[in-house]
Amino acid sequence: MEKVAFNVQEIRKEFPFINRKVNGKKLIYFDNGATSQKPQSVINRLTNFYTNENANIHRGVHTLSQEATSAYEESRINIQQYIGAKHSHEIIFTKGTTDSINIVAFSFGEHLKEGDEVIISAMEHHSNIVPWQMLCERKGCRLRVIPMNQAGELLLDEYSNLLSSKTKLVAVTHISNALGTINDVKTIIEKAHQVGAKVLIDGAQSIQHTKVDVEALDCDFYAFSGHKLFGPTGVGVLYGKEELLNDMPPYQGGGDMISEVSFERTTYNTLPHKFEAGTPHIAGGIGLGEAFHFLNSLDIDQVEAHEKELLDYATMRLKKIEGIKFYGEAKNKTSVISFLVEGTHPYDVGTLLDKMGIAVRTGHHCTQPIMNFYNIPGTIRVSFALYNTKEEIDLLITALDRIIPMLKN
Ligand code: PMP
Repeated sequence: MEKVAFNVQEIRKEFPFINRKVNGKKLIYFDNGATSQKPQSVINRLTNFYTNENANIHRGVHTLSQEATSAYEESRINIQQYIGAKHSHEIIFTKGTTDSINIVAFSFGEHLKEGDEVIISAMEHHSNIVPWQMLCERKGCRLRVIPMNQAGELLLDEYSNLLSSKTKLVAVTHISNALGTINDVKTIIEKAHQVGAKVLIDGAQSIQHTKVDVEALDCDFYAFSGHKLFGPTGVGVLYGKEELLNDMPPYQGGGDMISEVSFERTTYNTLPHKFEAGTPHIAGGIGLGEAFHFLNSLDIDQVEAHEKELLDYATMRLKKIEGIKFYGEAKNKTSVISFLVEGTHPYDVGTLLDKMGIAVRTGHHCTQPIMNFYNIPGTIRVSFALYNTKEEIDLLITALDRIIPMLKN
């Protein structure tokens, strides 16, 4: 597909939220780590589906059902090609990253037995911690954690020491939602494979910011959410290697995931349907395909360069604020800045910024272990997407310059 040269002003025209006002001010949206805004093409695709194409899939002989099925399956192929998977049936539609991780923890987890070990890292989102704790409790396995340094970088030597023949699965985030750290997942995967362990990468914060090629990475599973990469909520993907998915028991039982059912015995459908019980989020899957179409029209390296420029510019400007402390200063990081300002509470800063039309996140960002590590209750998080600009960062700095003295008095 032909790529359009990156031009932030042109991109902004594709996102109708740009015209939104909040508290009488032009909205500046810096909460992209939580969810992204949607381009008009994705919104139109959803509307068009419900207006003209709505039918259940994989079941009907009638035209509408066949059209909906084709659109849904084309979307799967779009995603497969974008992330470099070998087969489209390695793309399982899920509810999102959380759902994808739970599928692996439950289904792949059925292979684990007492004494086996699962490794996660110190910077995981709760959704890449709790499912593994639940698995370990169920199976009598041990959960081990790769530590990190003060800058928010994983200690890979310590990781090597944790790996052994007991390690069955390593589950690590590609990019930290709270710190912005880009982890060296290629090395993490290689090392895990040397001891025969499989690897799940939590890609919730990755595909919208950087090139992801699952075959080049050689990861065994890759999980992500549609809503963070300009697609709809309630839909996401679990990529898994064919042989592993084939070898795993289904996660849920129901329609579509079966081959034959009798009261005595049921046989299961082939991939990907074995993991897609019940009527899926059809419009969501189709809308997600459109989001990938949007991403594919851009050169992701140019997107990454734009966001790096935003990160460097914002960091430079924020550094000049007296009493500011950053959390997450990894050498290799992406467009997330977590910080606190001495003498102020993050919640108050976030609330006053909202009064000025600037949306940021405050709190623990579903990463309480990171907050415990730094011994803080939470941070203010500014997270950029491809449609953000330096001018918006200037307005954030002006707003902070006004707010901070007010809160300190
Ligand atoms: N992992 C990471 C790194 C995330 O940032 C998020 C969302 N904040 C999740 C997992 C969970 O994603 P979802 O809520 O879309 O399932």
